[in-house]
Amino acid sequence: MNIDPRYFEEMEARIPKGKVRTRFAPSPTGYMHVGNLRTALYTWLIARHYDGTFILRIEDTDQARQVEGATDVIYRTMTECGLTHDEGPDIGGPVAPYIQTERRDTYPRYAKLLVSKGAAYRCFCEKCESEEDSGDFDRGDDPCRDMSAEESQARADAGEPYVIRQRIPHEGTTTFHDVSFGDITVENKTLDDQVLLKRDGLPTYNFANVVDDHLMGITHVVRGSEYLSSAPKYNLLYEAFGWEIPTYVHCSPVMRDQHNKMSKRHGDPSYEDLKAQGYLTDAILNYVALLGWAPKGEKAEQEFFTLAQLAEAFDIAGISKSPAIFDIEKLNYFNANYLRAMTPEAFAKAAEPYIRSVVKNPAIDAAAVAALLQARCEKLTEIPEKVDFFEALPEYETDFFTNKKSKTNPEVSQSMLEAAIPMLEGLSDWTVDAIHDGLIDLAAKLEVKNATLMWPVRIAAAGRLVTPGGAVEICHILGQEETLRRLRLGLDKLK
Ligand code: GLU
Repeated sequence: MNIDPRYFEEMEARIPKGKVRTRFAPSPTGYMHVGNLRTALYTWLIARHYDGTFILRIEDTDQARQVEGATDVIYRTMTECGLTHDEGPDIGGPVAPYIQTERRDTYPRYAKLLVSKGAAYRCFCEKCESEEDSGDFDRGDDPCRDMSAEESQARADAGEPYVIRQRIPHEGTTTFHDVSFGDITVENKTLDDQVLLKRDGLPTYNFANVVDDHLMGITHVVRGSEYLSSAPKYNLLYEAFGWEIPTYVHCSPVMRDQHNKMSKRHGDPSYEDLKAQGYLTDAILNYVALLGWAPKGEKAEQEFFTLAQLAEAFDIAGISKSPAIFDIEKLNYFNANYLRAMTPEAFAKAAEPYIRSVVKNPAIDAAAVAALLQARCEKLTEIPEKVDFFEALPEYETDFFTNKKSKTNPEVSQSMLEAAIPMLEGLSDWTVDAIHDGLIDLAAKLEVKNATLMWPVRIAAAGRLVTPGGAVEICHILGQEETLRRLRLGLDKLK
């Protein structure tokens, strides 16, 4: 076997040293689930907190799982979320390329290096094609594990297809350390001789991951706890190569309930789904950050964090090993707070498309409608159903005019509207103040509670029991003519 040490020396020489380096290493499956987003966020936060480097690496060696356009979803999500990378496929970097299929020449060299060290072997068995079968692999029965180096080489030279498997020691134990889970020790005999390199020359996920994390100088590996069981095998690989083991941070899954992980199959939302459901990126990120991480010290009680504040506060020790349950109510709470904290202008801009999806009439001022909504919605997608009455007066029941607290019933409402219509007709200035003062003065003149007058005016103007904003704001937005038309219709209904 021709092992050229210069190649390995050159690869080593390229590895940046001395700084924290983290990577987000998604497989392009076309879907950024909440757990992935959290991993991306935590890896980014660690890099930013320690003034390190954040790398994006695309793990696309599993060709069967490729989804058209999937990397676009990754780039779009990262950009929208502000999780900027310092090295990656689109911008390059000192250890390029950053797409695993473009590194395909690298892995066989390292697999062969392991074979030469005795830490891996060629396996010519038919059944070895797929990685999945390695779960049942019975080492004792595999003739290839104990094949002589000469025979193995000769069969390879003769063109016989083979996979390369990791040679796991039969005896002893392997211990690895995880920041959240502590020391975990497993008996080597429980580990399988996993496939490192497939017949097509492409690496398995587990192998490419280790080789790339080393060659990219990754100091902190953050990933889902589903990879915990593979970690001992990674350590054995690092040891066989003589490489330094990175700091592992395995994160427990994000759950949909006590017993089930969130999953696409069960219709759980991805980042893009949440966006489409009307959640703000900042609110999603803030909530997702707290799904499995808690601030400490003086920030222990703090709930709301900007991305920059998260980067400052984030510490690896705050990552929890207990699974977090994704609670949509809690996300609603975060979202509502973020909506409220926006400037009125920013909120109006965000709300406008939702308002305009139902309110087409250009005479209705979308910014004025937005002002009514800002304190009254948890999600932008709630907007259309709250404001469609501005476009067209809905059908409504005469019962709506009856309200105990406001002391109204159909008769009272009729007399209120009979008084309100001429007063409103007489206003020469259709401003919020003029409408407000006119109605308040009228209630005083009629010797009724303000609510007794406001209630029927609002019902007749909106045709809805529940509205964002009160009678004054609604009439103002509708304009004088439309308000009077609606109030007259209400009066007709009551007569
Ligand atoms: N490509 C793996 C995934 O998408 C990444 C796991 C890791 O970060 O090590 O799940």
